[in-house]
Amino acid sequence: MTDQHDNDPLAGAHIETLAVRSGISRSPEGEHSEPIYTTSSYVFDSAAEAAARFAGEQPGNVYSRYTNPSVRGFEERMAALEGGEAAVGCASGMAAILATAMSLLSAGDHVICSRDVFGTTTNLFSKYLGRFGVEVDFVPLLDNAAWQAAVKPNTAMLFLETPSNPLNEVADIAWFAQLAKDSGALLVVDNTFCTPALQQPLALGADIVLHSGTKFLDGQGRTMGGVVVGNKAHMTEVMTFLRTCGPSLSPFNAWVLFKGLETLGLRMAAHCRSALELARWLQQQPAVEKVYYAGLEDHPGHALAARQQSAFGGVLAFEVGGGREGAWRCIDATRVLSLTANLGDAKSTIVHPATTTHGRLTPEQRADAGIRDGLIRVAVGLEHVDDLKADLQRGLDALA
Ligand SMILES: *Cc1c(COP(=O)(O)O)cnc(C)c1O
Repeated sequence: MTDQHDNDPLAGAHIETLAVRSGISRSPEGEHSEPIYTTSSYVFDSAAEAAARFAGEQPGNVYSRYTNPSVRGFEERMAALEGGEAAVGCASGMAAILATAMSLLSAGDHVICSRDVFGTTTNLFSKYLGRFGVEVDFVPLLDNAAWQAAVKPNTAMLFLETPSNPLNEVADIAWFAQLAKDSGALLVVDNTFCTPALQQPLALGADIVLHSGTKFLDGQGRTMGGVVVGNKAHMTEVMTFLRTCGPSLSPFNAWVLFKGLETLGLRMAAHCRSALELARWLQQQPAVEKVYYAGLEDHPGHALAARQQSAFGGVLAFEVGGGREGAWRCIDATRVLSLTANLGDAKSTIVHPATTTHGRLTPEQRADAGIRDGLIRVAVGLEHVDDLKADLQRGLDALA
């Protein structure tokens, strides 16, 4: 875990500057680009120093399950970008969610989780934490009354993602922050889809923000990683869980993420610009029945997203006729887009949610969540948007 320094030349700097300049600690070699510290352990100058480090009486590295300079750089940069006091790097996005839950919840606590979160997050809460006495209720993201009604005296955490995957439903983070406060609970926001380049949940009142770094933070589909950001007291708890239980971020992966952040703002701007253009283009296509993208004026979440986010994100969804067969035919006719469930990559991806990301839901659960059989999700990458249109045109032509 790393604290952000007060009183530094970057105080008040813009996010583009923080993404390039924060978290750097130069070694005596004077390198300009940051090195990768591939070491599992660290040496001490004396037995007394070793004793002081182990006792926590002297700051410094002991073992890379605890701290590592490459991981620390990434953590400092993420804390700066999210506007948090401290950050903790984790082995994956799921490790970040696990570490948050395990360090801040106890048996007997109650969690309210959005129904519309990443599928594995749902499994983590229901299948595993449930076995250890953490009770969880799942509530539709946009049903404010259901969230209020679900609050219990032992509610300790509210957990959500906004915008939702893949329908782009947008939740009012400030409203949830107030509900959390009134309920004596923590608000945890998974900010993987927006990244701090588009949305900063802590500034809107969230207590903790976390990410799958595997997606846009890396941005090129190279590595697994995750991060949790919040105040020092909470991050000390998360860090203690991590160093005890082990899902720490590897130095190499931390370095990939750290360098990935240098281009985060540029990449997000390009993802968002192409996604908006594609969404508008898809709306004009006769074979497309509906487009889900919060950047479109007729999307129910548009006004809120325009207020809460600086742009509308890189993920959109659309419906074609012919149900599952139509969607599969459209997907299989594309030749440039990658058929994969990943997102946040330079390469655009296309997937059929009803039979992949949301395939484990029952047909009724899918219907409730609005995941229709003709729905297709596109995570827009960095190719030229005209080439993406041409490829999707191949898909739509296959429906004729
Ligand atoms: C991918 C993803 C996760 C899980 O992250 P991993 O790095 O795959 O463990 C969590 N939340 C969201 C929103 C994701 O897209």
